[in-house]
Amino acid sequence: MHLSLIQVRVNGSKPSKEDTLIINHLSLANFRNYASLEFDLPPHVTVLQGENAQGKSNLLEAVYILATSRSPRTLSDRELINWDAFKEEIPACRIVSVVRKAGNDLKLEIALSARAVNPPQSEDLFSRWQPTNRSSSVQKRIRIDGIIRHAADLIGQLNVVTFSVYDIDLVGGEPALRRRYLDITNSQIDHKYLRNLQRYNRVLWQRNQLLRLISENKANPDELAFWDEQLVETGTYLIVQREHTVAALNQLIEGIHDELSGGQGKLNLVYLKSIDKQSGKGDSAVKETAEVFTKALQAARDKEIAQGMSLVGPHRDDLRFFVGEVDAGVYASRGQQRTVALSLRLAEAKLMLSVTKEHPVVLLDDVLSELDARRRHHLLGSAASYQQVLITTTDLDRFEQNFLSQASIFRVTQGRIEPLST
Ligand code: ATP
Ligand code: MG
Repeated sequence: MHLSLIQVRVNGSKPSKEDTLIINHLSLANFRNYASLEFDLPPHVTVLQGENAQGKSNLLEAVYILATSRSPRTLSDRELINWDAFKEEIPACRIVSVVRKAGNDLKLEIALSARAVNPPQSEDLFSRWQPTNRSSSVQKRIRIDGIIRHAADLIGQLNVVTFSVYDIDLVGGEPALRRRYLDITNSQIDHKYLRNLQRYNRVLWQRNQLLRLISENKANPDELAFWDEQLVETGTYLIVQREHTVAALNQLIEGIHDELSGGQGKLNLVYLKSIDKQSGKGDSAVKETAEVFTKALQAARDKEIAQGMSLVGPHRDDLRFFVGEVDAGVYASRGQQRTVALSLRLAEAKLMLSVTKEHPVVLLDDVLSELDARRRHHLLGSAASYQQVLITTTDLDRFEQNFLSQASIFRVTQGRIEPLST
């Protein structure tokens, strides 16, 4: 799917019936601090109010896991299983949702059980370049409408955009976080991206093994040719799609940032490639990128063998945020970085809607407390234009009364949820 060809639809336009994507029901069993939950989710805005440590973020985490197959907070699936369940012979948890999608019900289900087996490598879709916790020994079973599926089949069924206080790390944190961001966003809107990402990860792993053997004189450098070709083929797709996505985000983000920041400079996203090439346009981008990638591998060959690892490719790329001429990741204040991150998420939600023609479920985890009244007003106004929004808060005072009067409000207490009348 080429994003450059996609018309960006104005947010808030009336959805057609096909657009409908709503989580109707969520069941949790032994997930985090929810021993057992059956929750009918309303459409539109849902506010989940609760004291600290009651299960607000856990609930949004469950929705995020249904969308992406993994937690945004931890790499260890073991942490997701309720502590009390570890008294059982096989500790296990389940997250199930019934999603109303384009007029049909879709049942998405993830079951985790702590057994003495390693999860298959392909299920760790987005953590290739992060330390993985292999000792977690948790088996993950995904079912769609009752049929066992791979994680890759789940992704894209239910799209989410999450706003959290940790988004600021996207701007000022490690490049790996931004690559992960690009991978998750692209995977949700383009299944081919996800397949290429999985292949790229496998090829990269194999190629790194081979480079290590070559550096120890245990393998012949000629063997690299096969893996180079695969790396270039799969990696080129990732690079080109990331560039399309970044270009589409740039179209959307300028106006959003302008409004949120009160005109404090133009925000521009820049995708920095380790193969070091100016972005091409249209179909020639694939051919050009592949050529530059191949040349970059040739140039890096001696260094790669000396270090025993792959040094160029999308696993080494970065995304930077410039406000005017200034790199916000390096120079912006915390408040400015927060505004950049917020703009990014709002642009991402618009992008998802325009590409998939389905509303993403919008998750706002405790982000209001850090925003001034103007940014809060803008964020809530934008979020409310989506078909389903889940907002967590400790304090209902953060909302304007007419916003609350149109929302469904629930209280979260120690892993239980009940409606709250205001
Ligand atoms: P805050 O307002 O502080 O963000 P919250 O309502 O979002 O609070 P959560 O992050 O959802 O809180 O966590 C609720 C509780 O769940 C915490 O006390 C945490 O210790 C607990 N918890 C986390 N993992 C598990 C688990 N595997 N089993 C049982 N409880 C858990
Ligand atoms: Mg929380």
